[in-house]
Amino acid sequence: MSYVFNPAPVVSVPVFGSTQRFPVHRIYCVGRNYEEHAKEMGFSGREAPFFFMKPADALVVVNPGETASMPYPTLTKNLHHEIELVVALGKGGRNIAAADAHKHIFGYAVGLDMTRRDLQNEMKKLGRPWSISKGFDHSAPIGAITPAADAPDIASAEISLQVNAQQRQRSQISKLIWNISEVIEHLSAAWELQSGDLIYTGTPEGVGAVVSGDSMSAGITGLQSITVTVG
Ligand code: MN
Repeated sequence: MSYVFNPAPVVSVPVFGSTQRFPVHRIYCVGRNYEEHAKEMGFSGREAPFFFMKPADALVVVNPGETASMPYPTLTKNLHHEIELVVALGKGGRNIAAADAHKHIFGYAVGLDMTRRDLQNEMKKLGRPWSISKGFDHSAPIGAITPAADAPDIASAEISLQVNAQQRQRSQISKLIWNISEVIEHLSAAWELQSGDLIYTGTPEGVGAVVSGDSMSAGITGLQSITVTVG
């Protein structure tokens, strides 16, 4: 069999402590999953989870010990940072019960759900899809994935982001409105999940703009921190 042109390479993320890499299938994202962030965006924080997606090749992979950079995207004057816990699935399934969700998790990583906030606000107002504001090229920086067995206390971890060494976001994973297991239950009712899927679980309060030259440092207790500069 041959293709009419070379297929795109498999997108993959390093696994911390291993020479093997995690091959990425899809990227799901949860909207407004911390109460204080929902409030800062003008909502009550008490709604059912909702989802959007980013293309797998929107990832910007940050290797352990390295700094990565993402270009400042076109069409925006208000690029926002959103630090998020990313859940990496090692096993797929549909209609996964929350109680069984842990069996499907391969590991965890630190991610950034970069957002063209001005375009997102415009699309919300017009009732149009969010794709242009969320799923653009280089919109999903991610660090190495730590296997779940090496990150046993993730549910009580702290999550924080600094821009140019100044604190912008700081919260706890325990403040997720819908926890990791509940997110997997809801997602797997809507899609058949696959091994290789990544789930960006939502951002806490404190989102804000970055400009060219800024340096974002993002960390979650027990996971590989990432530093990403905006080009
Ligand atoms: Mn987000």
